[in-house]
Amino acid sequence: MNRRFIAGARCPGCGQFDSLFIEPQAPQERVQCIDCDYSNEKPSEPEPDVNSDNAVVLQFKPTTT
Ligand SMILES: [Zn+2]
Repeated sequence: MNRRFIAGARCPGCGQFDSLFIEPQAPQERVQCIDCDYSNEKPSEPEPDVNSDNAVVLQFKPTTT
């Protein structure tokens, strides 16, 4: 069993810190808590906003010293 604990994460179920770990053996990686029965799907990566028409244009401003 290779549990990967999530440092600094707080369990929404019992409020314990550092009690959440990722269960890699599950078909779908799940976040579980060792202190309570909390279990949830691993948060997926945020998808890029493909529907954004308002692209942020970064303007390069050279600093004049
Ligand atoms: Zn918990």
